[in-house]
Amino acid sequence: MSQKHVVAISCRFDQEALAYLQTQEDLEIRQIKGDDLPKADLSQVEAMIIRSKVRIDDAFLQRTPKLKMVVTATSGFDHIDFVAADIHEVSVYFAPDGNMYSAAELTWSLILACARKLFLAHKSLKLNDWKRTPLLGLELTGKTYGIIGLGRIGTTVSKIARGFGMNVVAYDPYVDDDVFVSHEVSRVGFEELMRTSDVISLHVPYTKETRYMINRKTMKWLEGRPILVNTSRGPVVNEQDLVDALKEGKFWAVGLDVFEKEPLQQSSGLWSREDAILVPHVGATTFEAFQRSSLIAAEKVVKHFNKKTVEDILPPRKSWAEHILFDQ
Ligand code: NAD
Repeated sequence: MSQKHVVAISCRFDQEALAYLQTQEDLEIRQIKGDDLPKADLSQVEAMIIRSKVRIDDAFLQRTPKLKMVVTATSGFDHIDFVAADIHEVSVYFAPDGNMYSAAELTWSLILACARKLFLAHKSLKLNDWKRTPLLGLELTGKTYGIIGLGRIGTTVSKIARGFGMNVVAYDPYVDDDVFVSHEVSRVGFEELMRTSDVISLHVPYTKETRYMINRKTMKWLEGRPILVNTSRGPVVNEQDLVDALKEGKFWAVGLDVFEKEPLQQSSGLWSREDAILVPHVGATTFEAFQRSSLIAAEKVVKHFNKKTVEDILPPRKSWAEHILFDQ
């Protein structure tokens, strides 16, 4: 038999997906822990499976002369320098359907936690404090929900909102009217969404356009005191401006899964905010999403070496893709 193709897996990976790869006779699977990656010998690696902690840039690709394929088992891709990948003739794929339900469900967990101040309620009960007046919550039925980015996760959160009897609006200049119509979502401009929404959630990719989309200027448009939830990418929100806006009472509460710098920096003004629920980038951290995205990634590697067409090539062929940012 000819020499096996070396496939490196450098991320958390599901056991079933691993077993599936290991049964492929033409593949040699090497698991490389993130901490070991900087010093690992990658000279024979032809395909890699990664998640967002592994940055694919020119310096990395200099170490992988035989690499032809990278699969990121994620739906985000701002950890990949596509210019460098192109120069090194490496094809990059992602797993966009792997974790959209988990990310949408986390978005809604944060919305509900904010609406009913669950984080404060939990804390006060644990302190044996039964006062309920400070925990007065908000009802969502009949309120307006503004979605920024009506893609996979944006449309999924819109379906949940309808179950709550909310009026759903969205801002997404790149999506056709029929997507809005089929999801019963009204198209609005960014400013109108900020002015009229009681709940706002962000589901955009990280691009030159979306960087600091929520900033001092755009938060001036707020007329109510909405809930804001970000499960997309940290730099979509200017964190310092958000802290200032929280101090000014511009939001009922905010729920954040993603941050400008991860892990959240000790210097961040968010730590001391009682009106912010903060979770450590767990949008895709469910058993199901982990398994699904691992299996999707494994299947792509197998297809590649079987010379079959591999779907979900990056960068996406979408009009906003020209604005993609590689987060240096
Ligand atoms: P998607 O590509 O399906 O949808 C993104 C939508 O944003 C598209 O419809 C696009 O037209 C729109 N968009 C692009 N630029 C825009 C702009 N300037 N203004 C308004 N809309 C714009 O992506 P998705 O799978 O729904 O994922 C959305 C985001 O969620 C990504 O940033 C992804 O990285 C993030 N994500 C985070 C987690 C997590 O663990 N927290 C998990 C999954 C995905």
